[in-house]
Amino acid sequence: MSIMQEAIMLAPEIIKNRRYLHQNAEVHNDLPITKKYVKEQLIAMGLEPIEISKSSLVVNIKGDKPGKTFLLRGDMDALPMAEQTNLPFKSETGNMHACGHDFHTSMLLGAAKILKSKQSEIEGTVKLMFQPAEETLSGALQMIEGGVLENPKVDAAMMIHVFAGIPAPTGLVLYMVDGPASASSDWFDIKIQGKGGHGAMPNMAVDPLIAMSNIHLGLGEINSREVSPEKFLVVTPCMLKGGTTGNIIPDSAFMQGTIRTFDDKVRELAKKRVKDIAEGIAIAYRCKAEVNFYRGCPSLVNNLEVRDSVVKYTKELLGQQAVIDSSTIPEAGGGRMSGSEDFAFISELVPSTMLALAANAEGNTFPLHHPKVQLDEKALPVGAAIYANSAISWLKEHK
Ligand SMILES: [Zn+2]
Ligand SMILES: [Zn+2]
Repeated sequence: MSIMQEAIMLAPEIIKNRRYLHQNAEVHNDLPITKKYVKEQLIAMGLEPIEISKSSLVVNIKGDKPGKTFLLRGDMDALPMAEQTNLPFKSETGNMHACGHDFHTSMLLGAAKILKSKQSEIEGTVKLMFQPAEETLSGALQMIEGGVLENPKVDAAMMIHVFAGIPAPTGLVLYMVDGPASASSDWFDIKIQGKGGHGAMPNMAVDPLIAMSNIHLGLGEINSREVSPEKFLVVTPCMLKGGTTGNIIPDSAFMQGTIRTFDDKVRELAKKRVKDIAEGIAIAYRCKAEVNFYRGCPSLVNNLEVRDSVVKYTKELLGQQAVIDSSTIPEAGGGRMSGSEDFAFISELVPSTMLALAANAEGNTFPLHHPKVQLDEKALPVGAAIYANSAISWLKEHK
């Protein structure tokens, strides 16, 4: 039986798995129900999943013939938001799989079953990476520290992300035009220390809100005056807090924001300048600013050789027309995504690639991360087949 035929035959099971995961959505690396379920499914297939960091699972499917190791990644975490769909399997946990990671996990379970049935044809090892905490950009790093890339050592890796809210038929596969596929992400916060006082006597106080307002404006100049127009940079303060009422000058103020770019040099420049500008402006207004960066994640960089191989295999699987360059759909980000993806940490260490798979349910106009987004389950067997086929084909071609 071909990989595609097998995936289609497995569709009811993949859909059942997806609905269970959707209904029991969990977040970050706190995935007791999800992990237990995935583990049970894998064991039922005769596989031996191991947990290498909190709520993660790794499975090696060793073929009958020797060869290299190809890693397939599926993330398992949801978002802390209440679902607003009327689906019969709507989430019951107060969290929602609004990023489609329930799709990724069930597709990878489907691929596991296909790969297990084709074990004699595998020339090397396929390693399955069931990852927690993608949305908090920390799960991949925890799994790397747990040894996901060792024993056996991983030679190449791939991931799939579904997408919705964009005009593309279900099952259409997009690949990224060049290396950088997703933006790097850094969160920052700035604490501004002034001196509180009476609103009627501002001269007796040092107002941190004046410093904060000017820092907010100053950060906008990094992009407009210090970065080439060809480069992409976002510096967005998204939270400004200070004060409690109308007649008290607060003692301190606090702001928080995010930096996104595709270029390592721009990333370093932006971080340096956020710090310089915040500290400098604070001093100018007699305050003191303390700047912290956290939740950093680099840009996901496609290895073009791995990308071209996987694109070739996927065209063989689905047909030439079904796999297109992502820049042909401007709504999809014109060839890359300004969002971040923590598979980036894997892509820094082994040659890697990502594919995007269209899964827009009929009538859905909402994007991922929206409480009403609905995905099309017809994409599930397609995703499972792409995973399995990419791994088997890559190993065959790279002995
Ligand atoms: Zn997401
Ligand atoms: Zn996601």
